[in-house]
Amino acid sequence: MGIPVVEQKRCTGCRECLSVCEVNAIEIVNEKAVIDYSRCYSDTGRCRACIENCLQGAIFEMD
Ligand code: SF4
Ligand code: SF4
Repeated sequence: MGIPVVEQKRCTGCRECLSVCEVNAIEIVNEKAVIDYSRCYSDTGRCRACIENCLQGAIFEMD
């Protein structure tokens, strides 16, 4: 499992990923999603919620 990375050009700032992140690891800064990796637990293999729920395909998984 990799970490979620936001592709800034695609992100519309819609906040959908904020609403699905259980640990509040995402905030919007200047209309773009920013992930706090100290909170995100994707590296445990337990979460891909933001990746799966971004309608713009703006979050991808990076190893
Ligand atoms: S769901 Fe996707 S487009 Fe919407 S704020 Fe999050 S990263 Fe950006
Ligand atoms: S992978 Fe899960 S915990 Fe990490 S930022 Fe996305 S929704 Fe939040």
